[in-house]
Amino acid sequence: MEKTKEESELSDINSKISLSLANEINRKRFMHHIMTISGITVLLAMSLMALLKGDMVLFLSDLFFALTLGFLLYRIRNVEKIDPIVITTLIIIMFFFLYLFLTWKAEGWSFFWFFTYPIISLFMLGNKKGLLLSLTFLFLAIGCFYILNNYGSLPNYPKGVITRLSFTYLLITFLTYAFEQSRHESENLLQESMDELKDKAIRDGLTGLYNRRYLEEILGLMKRDIHSPPRVITFIMADIDFFKKYNDTYGHQKGDEILRKIAQALQGQIRRKTDYVFRYGGEEFSLLLYGSDEKTTIELCQDILDSLEELNIPHEGSHIGRVSLSLGAVIGHTGQNCHPEDIVKSADDALYEAKESGRNSFVFKKE
Ligand code: GH3
Ligand code: MG
Ligand code: MG
Repeated sequence: MEKTKEESELSDINSKISLSLANEINRKRFMHHIMTISGITVLLAMSLMALLKGDMVLFLSDLFFALTLGFLLYRIRNVEKIDPIVITTLIIIMFFFLYLFLTWKAEGWSFFWFFTYPIISLFMLGNKKGLLLSLTFLFLAIGCFYILNNYGSLPNYPKGVITRLSFTYLLITFLTYAFEQSRHESENLLQESMDELKDKAIRDGLTGLYNRRYLEEILGLMKRDIHSPPRVITFIMADIDFFKKYNDTYGHQKGDEILRKIAQALQGQIRRKTDYVFRYGGEEFSLLLYGSDEKTTIELCQDILDSLEELNIPHEGSHIGRVSLSLGAVIGHTGQNCHPEDIVKSADDALYEAKESGRNSFVFKKE
């Protein structure tokens, strides 16, 4: 079946949102791939060299690390929650870098890898967890350095190496932190503006109620609500009585004020998050409620009429003497057999009957 314009726009919005959510995970996944693949390459090269030198312990340990990273690379492809895998990978890499630093196994490169750690940990885990892991690594390195310096054997590092190393490491950590922070802030700002824009797109400027476009989106979704059992819905059309005369008597500005007041009164009648009030167009409104029955629908219609009576806004041009509404209400259901156009048409027919019967009244129809 061909999609309506609203349906395809809605699925466009939804797929963009899910894409943007997935982006953060995809970004992390991509970085994890780069990190593990380069780790595996270096480890395999080192294990080969160790084998050629006849150092079996080093050969086996490099191979073991490479296989572990390979396993994590495989695992991250198939899981939704990637943080535990990222943390495990970063801890393994931490120990590997520590090992290089304390043994001089990679000679001139032993240092170099050390400084990549704050960058990868903060990029991959965000500022809080990343900073924690990054500083843990530094303190562990300093601790092990002093222990080995006093009680064991250390490579022949120049004097003051640990101070210079710590300073550079902290500087890189700070710069990465600042970068991550600004990236995060601009991402939040973008998300907020997107939410704001989306909200504006579905609301009516004058009354602040949801607009017709959003109603059509929701009606379109009702038809596709095929995974859950059909739900009962109430749909009500409301139309201001003799509104043209109101404008003619009191002016268009006053008429706008009435539209806002009635919008507020209707909004005040709904209780649940799943109940919606729309400005259908002009001086027409509609309400959509999930799960309400015949009794509550009739009560709601009466409450709406009563709320207008309470407002008691004078209207000379109406034989009722005040601003009033006519309502047409129907009960339908969601699911594959749902025909939103028919529900709207039935409510409109019921509204017409209410108008015919003298206005300031409601007509309820079962679908
Ligand atoms: P009925 O009781 O049969 O509904 O009569 P009515 O006069 O309310 O209906 P009709 O369709 O003849 O007129 C609707 C009027 O609503 C005409 C138009 O000027 C007014 N209207 C529509 N949109 C707005 C708006 O945004 N602001 C104002 N002030 N008036 C509006
Ligand atoms: Mg009308
Ligand atoms: Mg009207």
